[in-house]
Amino acid sequence: MMKKRKLVVANWKMNPTNAEGAKSIFGKIRRAAKKMKQTDVVAAPSFVHIPVLSKLLPKGNGKKNLFLGAQNIHQKDFGAYTGEVSANQLKEFKVRYAILGHSERRELGESDEIINEKVQSALRQGVAPIVCIGEKERDSEGEYLNFIKEQLVNIFRGLPKKYLADCVIVYEPVWAIGHTFKDSLSGTDMHVMSLFIRKTLSEIFGKDYGWNMKVLYGGSVENENAEDLMKKGDISGFLVGHASLDPLEFSKILKVFGSPQIKNAG
Ligand code: PEP
Repeated sequence: MMKKRKLVVANWKMNPTNAEGAKSIFGKIRRAAKKMKQTDVVAAPSFVHIPVLSKLLPKGNGKKNLFLGAQNIHQKDFGAYTGEVSANQLKEFKVRYAILGHSERRELGESDEIINEKVQSALRQGVAPIVCIGEKERDSEGEYLNFIKEQLVNIFRGLPKKYLADCVIVYEPVWAIGHTFKDSLSGTDMHVMSLFIRKTLSEIFGKDYGWNMKVLYGGSVENENAEDLMKKGDISGFLVGHASLDPLEFSKILKVFGSPQIKNAG
């Protein structure tokens, strides 16, 4: 059974170029998020912009469905790790999520084993891991499915079952990242992957675990393909890259989870 609340994550990568730009995008995303009833929104800016955006988070008893996420963390909580930032340090700035294992970080040498340690560090600090998995290319024999399974097994190795519900999985086929909606996975194909991921997690952890997890789709989500993916993909939301830097485009993507005429499974 899928969790009711949806989650849409904005991965700004190494953008925008200054804090004023980050504040401007964040302010517009905050307005769009406010209109959403059953959807949480996470903005994941560069580390340098986190402190200033932290001050702009919704305050008081008002609606709290907008959160800050990091694009990465180090696997240790503190220590002699030059140039790194830990979940432990990010807590001070109300960072509630961390994107882990993004393919652009894996390109820099991050292995499943390191991602496993990062997941554990995030959970230790009360930061929810948003774990990215996905194949670089597909083959007709379906070997890529074994690759996905291996990623899941490695990344969650040794994790106590009770922590699984705090994790979010993003299926991001690497070949679909950074293009246009025309090059993304279809909703129907995402449905197949969603089932595969949930089934695999249930095999690893026991029967109910995978079915209760949030599984998102990432890879060239734009206004044009968001509805198809949401309606057919059996997903709990999106990880949005380039389109999240354009607040109007991003708000249109959010709206697929808010429009009353769209019937969404789960
Ligand atoms: C990403 O890299 O996480 C991503 C989803 O990017 P894009 O939407 O630009 O494909």
